[in-house]
Amino acid sequence: YRAKRKAAGYALFDPELDQKDKRHLTLMSDLVEAIERNGLSLHYHPRVDLSDDRCTHCEALLRWQHPEHGMIPPDEFIVSAELNNLIHQLTRWVLRTALAQLKVWLDQGIDMNISVNVSARNLVDHRFADDLNAMLLDHDVPASRLEIEITESALIVDPVRALESLEAMRAYGVSIAVDDFGTGYSSMSYLKRLPVHVLKIDKSFVQDLLRDESDATLVRSVIDLSHSFGLQAVAEGVEDAATLEALKAMNCDQAQGFHYCRPLPAADFEVWLRLRG
Ligand code: C2E
Ligand code: MG
Ligand code: MG
Ligand code: MG
Repeated sequence: YRAKRKAAGYALFDPELDQKDKRHLTLMSDLVEAIERNGLSLHYHPRVDLSDDRCTHCEALLRWQHPEHGMIPPDEFIVSAELNNLIHQLTRWVLRTALAQLKVWLDQGIDMNISVNVSARNLVDHRFADDLNAMLLDHDVPASRLEIEITESALIVDPVRALESLEAMRAYGVSIAVDDFGTGYSSMSYLKRLPVHVLKIDKSFVQDLLRDESDATLVRSVIDLSHSFGLQAVAEGVEDAATLEALKAMNCDQAQGFHYCRPLPAADFEVWLRLRG
């Protein structure tokens, strides 16, 4: 994993370089600056219903345009932000921005729901569920229009705390998706214990669906598993029409991916929505 990050030129952001690393500290103070001074933005990525081809859901994805390093992928700086506890401030910014945008869309009569990615660190923070509820009230957005995406690892770090947060959020109506499903190490037994509504099948399985028989089997199994538990199955990383058709044949509920479009700034996302009617 480290080697891969290094090869990709991201050695600068390797979390294992530890916090003494000066460049890492500089980067984190740059991030604080970005949070406070408008250096971050959200892009929105559509999720399309496979039964009627409608889009009433999107995922908010964080973007950081660094003044010197250019666009830094979220996968890189989020790991660092988690190590520095900056993740709390960062997630609050993402939630506030996403909820404000959602409010604008709802006021325009656009039928939309939003997913926000939340880290394990947020979930084990005992104030998180209450803070989120306050933000929803503040923005005057129905909780049912917000979905929180968590990864399986978030359920392992501190399952008791995670469960408390999830239960609290479910109680006021937020829905929960397990992101990157299939890549984690956890036991599936949490599906019966946790208030989960959606399984998002990791793109690594979806992308090779048509070429790799075992990936196809895995995707089909996760879709069936979702339905057995009364959950929705969402495929992410759909890049072509043939994969989409295969997913429809497997009864997948929703799809997300570059086949529809790249994640887009809000204004471009609105245009995309309008063009497809
Ligand atoms: P994720 O939540 O699994 O988000 C999906 C990622 O897959 C996004 O990358 C998206 O651009 C990409 N993707 C979607 N469809 C396709 C496709 O068809 N093909 C390919 N090749 N890629 C596709 P992105 O935006 O770089 O985000 C990467 C990860 O960073 C996210 O994975 C999520 O774990 C994390 N992340 C992004 N925004 C936030 C945030 O606001 N908070 C937290 N905690 N994490 C975030
Ligand atoms: Mg996600
Ligand atoms: Mg994912
Ligand atoms: Mg991911």
